[in-house]
Order: sequence, then C-alpha cells, then structure tokens
Amino acid sequence: MTDPEELAAKVREGELRIHELEEHADHDTAAEARRLYVERETGTDLESIGDYTFPAERAEPNIENMIGAAQIPMGVVGPVDVNGEETSSNGSGGAADGEHYLPLATTEGALLASVNRGLGVIRTAGGADARVTKNGMTRAPVFRVTGVAEAAETVEWVTDNFDALAEAAESTTSHGELLDIEPYVVGDSVYLRFAYDTKDAMGMNMATIATGEACEIVESETPASLVALSGNLCSDKKPAAINAVEGRGRSVTADVLIPGELVEERLHTTADAIAEANTRKNLTGSAKAGSLGFNAHAANVVAAAFLATGQDEAQVVEAANTITTMDARQREDGTSDLYASVSLASLEVGTVGGGTKLPTQSEALEILGLRGGGEPAGSNADALAEIIAVGALAGELSLLAALASRHLASAHEDLGR
Ligand code: NAP
Repeated sequence: MTDPEELAAKVREGELRIHELEEHADHDTAAEARRLYVERETGTDLESIGDYTFPAERAEPNIENMIGAAQIPMGVVGPVDVNGEETSSNGSGGAADGEHYLPLATTEGALLASVNRGLGVIRTAGGADARVTKNGMTRAPVFRVTGVAEAAETVEWVTDNFDALAEAAESTTSHGELLDIEPYVVGDSVYLRFAYDTKDAMGMNMATIATGEACEIVESETPASLVALSGNLCSDKKPAAINAVEGRGRSVTADVLIPGELVEERLHTTADAIAEANTRKNLTGSAKAGSLGFNAHAANVVAAAFLATGQDEAQVVEAANTITTMDARQREDGTSDLYASVSLASLEVGTVGGGTKLPTQSEALEILGLRGGGEPAGSNADALAEIIAVGALAGELSLLAALASRHLASAHEDLGR
C-alpha cells in the first residue's frame, strides 16, 4: 500500500498512528501522507513545506514524523581571512589557515552585510589569528551514595582508576578519547564530569555512549548507584557558568590588531570609541545584567553558521558565553590601533555526524572545504571552530563600530560640528 491518500485516511480513521507511516510506505510517500493528514486536520496548504529537494530517507536519523523541510535563506560572507597556523588541538597544522567563504543561514536581514563589513576590515588588517585552546566534549552522570564518606570513597576510586575507565569508555568508539574525569560532590550526590576528545564529531552521542560504559564499572567497583547518565553538570543546552569557565566542545579565541587609520576609514569611528563602547556595554552592562555572555551578538553568527552547516542548533546557548574584548593600543605618535578579540569558551561543532550529513548542510561544509572527517581526525572541526570564531569577531567589530560611530555622530551634533 503506497497511496498517500489511503494512508492519510487510515491515520484519520485511527487505523494507523502518525509515526507508523514509514512502516507501510517509502519515506517520501509517508511524509506526503502525513502532510495530507495535517493539511486536512488544520485547514492548511503545505505546498512549500512539501517542496524539499532531498530524499526523505536521508533525513531518517535526524527527524521523526517528517512532513517536509523548513527552508531558511542561506548566504555567504567572506572571504574570512584566518591565520590559523599550527592550530589543530591535537598539535597538527590547522585546515583553517587561509581564506574561506562562510555560509550563514538566517532570517535576520542586515546580519550578513554587517558581518561582511567586519570581515573586510579584518582582511585589510592582514587577517585574524584564531586558535582552539581547549577541546573536550563533556557528559556528567550523577550517582547516589549514602553520604560524604561513600562520596569520598567513590571519588578516590575513580581518580585511582582513570585508565580502566578510559579503556571501557573508548571500547565504544574508534575516534573518541577520554581526556579527564572531574568529580563534584554535593551531599549524597556524586557527579563525574567526563571530557572527551571527539575529533571531528560534536560528540554528544559519542560521549554519552562511552560514559554509559564507564558508569557500569563505577557502579560495580564503588558504593555509588547511577541515577542519571546526564546530571546537568555537563552542561548541555542550558546557560551554565561551568561551560563558560571550564569550556565544552571547542574553546576558541580569535583576535586582530586593526590600524587606527583603518578603523576611521572603514568603520567611521576611532579605536578609543569602540573600546569604550565595548567596556561599558559588553563588560559593565553584561556584569550588571548578571549575563553569562560578555559580547554584543556572537550568538547571531554562531546560530546562522550552525543552521547552515548542520550543527545542533540548541547548543547556540553554550556559544553565547563568548567574551569580547576591545582595547585601544596607543602608538608612539599618540594615535591608537584597535585590538579586538572574541573568546568562545564552549563552541560545540562537528563536521561528521548529527545534521552535517544532510544535503544542504553537507554542501555548506563543502564550501568551507570541511565536509566529513579531517586529516588528521579533529582538524576539520578545529578549523570550523576557528572560522566561526573569526566570523563572530567580525560581527562584534561591525556592531560595536556602528554603536560607537552613532555615539560620535550625536556627540558631533551636541558640539555643533
Ligand atoms: P554521531 O553521529 O552520533 O557520532 C559521530 C560518528 O562519526 C561516530 O560514530 C564516529 O565513529 C564517526 N566518525 C567517523 N569519522 C569521524 C571523525 N573523523 N571524527 C569523529 N567521529 C568520526 O554524532 P555525535 O557528534 O556524537 O552526536 C551528535 C548528535 O547528537 C546530534 O544529532 C545531536 O543532535 C545529538 N545529541 C545527542 C545528545 C545525547 O544526549 N545523546 C545530546 C545533544 C545532542 P566512532 O565513534 O565509532 O569512532
């Protein structure tokens, strides 16, 4: 039975459930039947949602109850000029070194124009340096113990038996490597924050499966009982200081020194004005707000790059932890150059797994030359992190300059010149 009308009727009559359609037809027919059902139930026309270009079967690992696809406009910015020599977190040369067009998917008009303006300034200044300074995808299970005595016993055993736990964890993956287990004790709860090098995968599934295996040994060798494989000290998809401090996924910094003349010519303001705007807005304002993000809009570039390249979009939350610094560095002649940096403590990216295999996302990674696994493993995800960081730096520069120049314009008005 492959007639979508018949299938939709069966769902309407309660003979089939909406998630069972793929058991009776190919994936595209199942999606069409679901669409027909939803159209009639809701009185809508889903022509655009149904007008997707890839075989529905390719999206099977990524979606249930598929009815079609959401289309988000995608553009490119760049070239993004990255000085990323010897940047790979495993010590090898980084693939980000050079010029790249960065695909961004968004519905926010002016975002790409703004980022592009910043990238042009960065290019003229000789490119931005970018480095992955730390790499570790985390999963933190929570265990129950009777009290602090058992908690201490458990932590001691875990610390003494790291190698055995690593062997168990790594038996589940040919790429992942256990880097660290950081224990935390709260009353009769023990949290073990496992951190992995997941190479070119964002790694959340990989880390979860590996940690599950290690937990079995912890349970058999200590008094601790596993309560939940994720105890929220990981911390995934929630604003959390631990990610801002310790990092999660890639910790990446990008910076650039922009000559004062270039700031005036292209950004229509001064290094001092941008530095002041950054201090009062991104640092003092964010501190007063109790924000975990000390930046203007880093999440804008991260979100658009995530959507374009098939990252897990909910993890934009972690990337919003970014700290932006802008300093006026005085020269001997009394004028100032602008030092600008962004530090994204927890940028969770991959070039394999998750949504990266989907057709448009995979083409977007191809634009960057970063589709699939890198050589050596991990270098593609490092490079992606560095390029996104430089994109975020460009976005910060452009927005802060716009704010600073407006301030200058109004100051000029106030002064009557
Ligand atoms: P994945 O697709 O589950 O795993 C990546 C796979 O790629 C691994 O099986 C790995 O094989 C393989 N691989 C091939 N070449 C590789 C290379 N060069 N580097 C690294 N791995 C390579 O992806 P994931 O990144 O672990 O997880 C991403 C998914 O997790 C997303 O769909 C996301 O939405 C979801 N997610 C899960 C959770 C959770 O709690 N489970 C939470 C948030 C998000 P080996 O492991 O055999 O080496």
